Order: sequence, then structure tokens, then C-alpha cells
Amino acid sequence: MYGVVVCPRCHKAKGVDLRQKTTACPCGFEIRVTPARVKARAATPRELAPLVGQVNAELAGGTRTVQQALAPPKRPRPREVHARVIAAVPKAGDRTTRIRAAAAELTSELEVFTRDDWARVLEGLGIPDAEAALDALLRANAVFEPKEGFYRSVDLRP
Ligand SMILES: [Zn+2]
Repeated sequence: MYGVVVCPRCHKAKGVDLRQKTTACPCGFEIRVTPARVKARAATPRELAPLVGQVNAELAGGTRTVQQALAPPKRPRPREVHARVIAAVPKAGDRTTRIRAAAAELTSELEVFTRDDWARVLEGLGIPDAEAALDALLRANAVFEPKEGFYRSVDLRP
């Protein structure tokens, strides 16, 4: 039986024959092979290699997630986008004009928007029946659906 252990010093995964009591890590640390330390098991050395890669990828993935959580967001948060769109749509005007302006502003901000983005913006504008409003724009070919669930206005910000 073979297994994958993780070096406590350099945190890299290493394949090992589980009959061994210890194994030397390339970093120089002597890892004690204990059942608690075995992250994955394989019957043959051939099956072991991809498991080592998988455990290393999981270790790297965990680190990346932490780094992403600490990094500042690159895109503006949707809530800010919705607030900007709501502020940009004229307060005056008829329902159709304001709805088309909202779709154009959302498209300018996000490239494509979802029904959730749409509902939030229309709620902020005080326009009822967001679903019906979007369906009307789709029927009028003022908005199209380039990908299922994602919408785009034919107009952009004036
Ligand atoms: Zn090591």
C-alpha cells in the first residue's frame, strides 16, 4: 500500500510506501509516516503519482482562497453598481423610457446583467413588475439574451 503524506516543514505532498516508518522530504525534513498523516492511499506507485499532484493542488488551492479573501475586490461590488445605475436613470419620464435607460446603464456597467440585477435596480427606481418590464424589452428587441439568464441592452449609455 502506498500513500500521500504532507511534510510538516515545507507543506508539500510526497508519495510514500506505507511500509516505511519515515521518509525524507526533498526539503531535508524526515517525515514520520503515521496513519493520521496519510492524506490519500493507492494500491500501486502508478496510482500514487496523480494523488500526490491532487493533494498538492488542494494545498495550493487552500492558500489561494485565503489570498483571494484578503485581496481587495478588483471589480466594484454589485451593490455599488446597482446604486450607480439607479442614480443615472432619469427620475422623470415615462415608464418605458426609464426602463430602457435602466437596461442601457446596467449593460454599460456590467456588459451583461441578470434578472437579480434587474430586480434590484427596478426596485431602487420604484418601478413595479420588474419581470414583466424585462419581458417587454425582450419582446421589443430592446434587450437580448446572449447567454441563458444573462441580458444585454441594444442601447448603451447615451
Ligand atoms: Zn519538506
